[in-house]
Amino acid sequence: MARINEHYLNLPGSYLFSEIGRRTREFQAANPGVKVMRLGVGNTTEPLAPAVIAGLHEGVEKLARAETYTGYGDEQGDSRLRQRIAEVKYRARGVDVTPDEIFISDGAKPDTANIQTIFAQDSVVAVQDPSYPVYVDTNVTVGRSGKLLPNGLYERFVYMPCTEANGFFPDLPATRPDLIYICSPNNPTGAVATRAQLERLVDYALANDAVILFDAAYECFIREPDLPHSIYEVPGAKRCAVELNTFSKEAGFTGVRLGWTVVPKGMAIDEHSPRSLNELWNRRTTTFFNGASNIAQEGGLAALTPEGQRQNRKTIDLYMGNAAIIRAGLESVGLTAFGGTNAPYIWVKTPNGMSSWAFFDKLLNEAHVVSTPGVGFGPSGEGFMRLSAFGHRPNVEEAVESIRRNLRI
Ligand SMILES: *Cc1c(COP(=O)(O)O)cnc(C)c1O
Repeated sequence: MARINEHYLNLPGSYLFSEIGRRTREFQAANPGVKVMRLGVGNTTEPLAPAVIAGLHEGVEKLARAETYTGYGDEQGDSRLRQRIAEVKYRARGVDVTPDEIFISDGAKPDTANIQTIFAQDSVVAVQDPSYPVYVDTNVTVGRSGKLLPNGLYERFVYMPCTEANGFFPDLPATRPDLIYICSPNNPTGAVATRAQLERLVDYALANDAVILFDAAYECFIREPDLPHSIYEVPGAKRCAVELNTFSKEAGFTGVRLGWTVVPKGMAIDEHSPRSLNELWNRRTTTFFNGASNIAQEGGLAALTPEGQRQNRKTIDLYMGNAAIIRAGLESVGLTAFGGTNAPYIWVKTPNGMSSWAFFDKLLNEAHVVSTPGVGFGPSGEGFMRLSAFGHRPNVEEAVESIRRNLRI
């Protein structure tokens, strides 16, 4: 009899967003005339930049003529796009990443899920708590987690709490892991790692033969000039870190689908392995993947032209304006909020020690605003809510105004 992969049974049901949906529907059914507003969703809302639309059109037009038609491309991605990412995202910041270290993907979430497959099955995994659920759940499915304990933690993962006390960037792991997932700017806390924090982490990884898996999906939201956009801005990182990034948030490609992964040549792990990580990821990519959409890649090329970047920047500015409005609104009613200055997420402390879910209900019932309970991202998220700056400006203003007028703290 065929049998399932039993590690999947260690995954709880997708509780967070289904529970949010259930409570929201229940509220709406009980209050049919009330307009429910959403400040919880991490999904882009604004139309694509004209320069990017032109690039996508060009991709479509090329498919209309025999002379320019392309079918399968290189699994690793269009060499022009790999070259442009190397220039615009790395060389422009003084970082040397070569095109053959860059693998174009259909998004950072799939690659974040897939990258763990090239590491040993018994690798010890460290994650930030709270964290983007993909890092945790994908390692559960391959048997690295052990059981889910009653306290909400898996028995074999190393958790790195991100708390108000440490500014939401974790201390070094308490026990030595093999793989360390770091997301900066962070989803869900909105915190950004400083250069000094990343230096300490890179030194730790090199000293402990660990690999950092660095998710830079929100790099384009960084505003303060001294904060690192890529982990490779830190000396030594090319020997211990893989970096994942995406066009989803920078260019609004959440539905178009395009990202990339950097697997440097000459990682420290390569000295002990007959084949380098770069070779293994190349082998994995050519075997499991048939390349990102050629249309999407034309759009990506356009997004990284000076004009595309200028236009995308305007949309990012709009989201960051939303973030400022949300943060100011929360603070005006006496709430404590973090993030939202270099990331599109605002991490709100619940008042009077309320639980995340109790405050979710309060925001929904009193202000008719849907948020995301912090505890859904890990036990250390208890007592916090995530609000998102993605949204049309009038909707964001309306939701914030409702919080100002109706929330009773
Ligand atoms: C949105 C997001 C991504 C991007 O995922 P895509 O698959 O590229 O759309 C990656 N990491 C984090 C933490 C995110 O929030």
